[in-house]
Amino acid sequence: MTPENTRFLSGLNDIQRSAVLHDNGPCAVFAGPGSGKTRVVTLRAARLASQGSQILVTTFTTEAAREMETRLTGMLPAPAMKLVTVSTLHALCLKVLKAELPSFKLVTDPHQQRSLADLAGARDIEGGCRAFLSQVSLAKNMGNTHKTYKPDDSGGDREFARTWRAYEKVKADRGLFDFDDLILAVRDLLSSNEQTRAKYASQYGFIIVDECQDMNGPQFAITLSLGRDHRNVMLVGDLDQSLYAFRGADATTFRAFAKHQATKVFELSHNYRSTQSIMQFADSLIKQDENRHPLPFQATRDEGLPVRWTRLNDADDEAEETAQEILELHKAGLPYNDIAILFRVNAQSEAFERILAAHEIPFASKQDGDFYARKEVQGLITYLQYLAPDEHTNQAYADEWLLALLNVPDRKIHRDVAQQLIHVAQMRNRKVRDILSEFPAPDLRSFKGIKLLADQLAQLETAVSQCTNAGQIVAKIRNITGYDRWIQHDPRGVREQEDDDRIVNIARVEEAAGHYATAADYLKAVRMVREAKQKRSKDRRGHKHIDEITLVTGHGAKGLEWKVVFAVGWSEFILPHRKAVNYDEERRIAYVIATRARDRLYVSSIDRWNDSITAPSRFLTSLNLVASASPARDVAAKSLETPNSLLGGLFD
Ligand code: ATP
Ligand code: MG
Repeated sequence: MTPENTRFLSGLNDIQRSAVLHDNGPCAVFAGPGSGKTRVVTLRAARLASQGSQILVTTFTTEAAREMETRLTGMLPAPAMKLVTVSTLHALCLKVLKAELPSFKLVTDPHQQRSLADLAGARDIEGGCRAFLSQVSLAKNMGNTHKTYKPDDSGGDREFARTWRAYEKVKADRGLFDFDDLILAVRDLLSSNEQTRAKYASQYGFIIVDECQDMNGPQFAITLSLGRDHRNVMLVGDLDQSLYAFRGADATTFRAFAKHQATKVFELSHNYRSTQSIMQFADSLIKQDENRHPLPFQATRDEGLPVRWTRLNDADDEAEETAQEILELHKAGLPYNDIAILFRVNAQSEAFERILAAHEIPFASKQDGDFYARKEVQGLITYLQYLAPDEHTNQAYADEWLLALLNVPDRKIHRDVAQQLIHVAQMRNRKVRDILSEFPAPDLRSFKGIKLLADQLAQLETAVSQCTNAGQIVAKIRNITGYDRWIQHDPRGVREQEDDDRIVNIARVEEAAGHYATAADYLKAVRMVREAKQKRSKDRRGHKHIDEITLVTGHGAKGLEWKVVFAVGWSEFILPHRKAVNYDEERRIAYVIATRARDRLYVSSIDRWNDSITAPSRFLTSLNLVASASPARDVAAKSLETPNSLLGGLFD
């Protein structure tokens, strides 16, 4: 063995070594979480690059790619590092298309994508533009194009196929590509143009794919066509961690690749990440899937502390309990960087951000965008700002907020009216609120709109005095203004979200606000979240050493690990998700979340999620575990006496 080789082998077990030392020809690594798959990928790439080979490593998320690149940079001298490309497949395809198609333009803004769909007539498809685009995305991820798609005999599907063709034409006329086109366009380019394929294939002597259980057919097609000349392709994955069937992930190719007689297969059986308690818990979860092919695994770590399962009343109590535990751990010397809070849906993040901010616990939230800036949430917040006394002047009903509410919901008030209202109010030296009833509106629609606004504000102002918490005020806003109807029927302003719909977010605000006695208290908590986030991004820009907790979904946590993991919201409607059709995939999400933990795993369930009473996740109840009761359970018992409307149909 050459000295260069041994440099990359220290601390590996025999099978890991063989995999790192594998030279030419196809190979597959099948293994469970924490068995060192990513370590093998990194070390094999480093070894091959240090010997002068050009390597392409693809990973599933940008974060994982970045992390692997950092590790490789620490291991390799600069000239060898230049031989390694670590990328997601999407980023790679983006590079190829930019180089091959000079006029290439990618649509990244979901609003723009929706307007393009609208131009193609998708508004008339059942579910509107949003549902149409998801259906197109799924069809593309399954490898279909608008040309190859074969609709079934139903009128609806034929209509879908027709609209899809129109959508592709709308994009083509403008030279635009959507995100899913990246993969399909490169697949088609490589399969139709041998010269181009050979050009890219010759750039990489070895191809290594991590997390390949989540690749779809077109992604495999690209990878395999790049490796066709030398067959130096290594596919690495764990079928138990496949989370993207809903986006067309298909492990058939991975399995067929591994079964091929030319493929050398490595099965890593030792788990290095987690304590035995955590491994046993995770294993008992995944075992409930009867269709899987279990891999043997061997623990290398000690038993560790038991997995703790706690049942709490609702998301705020869960966040409070988690924050208290985190403060204890931190006091005992654990850095925040070693802790993650992992959840199933983005909407769960809100309570944690708010309560961590209130405790001044630093956190990095990996969610896209700001929950409070979402249109449906911002409207409610603006109403509360209008109704609550200002923290400086101590006066409510400020003009600023009222003017922002003229068309929330849409009251068909002309856009010039805001300026005119300010002008008239200033002339009369009064608040806008006090001149609404005598305002000379410029047209009939605006007149009616202003009247409606004045009535609704008057009703709200009276109603607020009877409310005993801010959640009741939110409920009044929803009721009196017809807020939900407006949000549901507005075809614009919807951002792409996989899990959350806008009514869920509204219900989230109502439930969260219910924990604060006044609107001003709730608004203060919201302000603290925003300030905490601004401070974090300033620290990040200033490259300060950052010690913070990670908040991320199970999907976003793939491949990562922390000493302590809080697996939160393990309740029906959340995990499994209320819209789940594939419970095996939901269970795998739970499995991935649990196996991110190295030393301690805290699992919690909540008995109420927004306006529904929930039961503990079926994945937990089937384990015969006993939940530890927290003081908040007394409150949970009381909440069972809430009216039927809150039961979400569970007991109907
Ligand atoms: P996942 O399926 O979650 O992506 P994985 O199989 O890729 O997990 P790694 O992330 O590579 O696993 O490794 C898990 C942990 O185990 C890491 O902290 C890694 O450094 C450690 N590890 C891997 N192999 C060994 C080994 N032979 N000895 C000690 N620690 C190891
Ligand atoms: Mg990994």
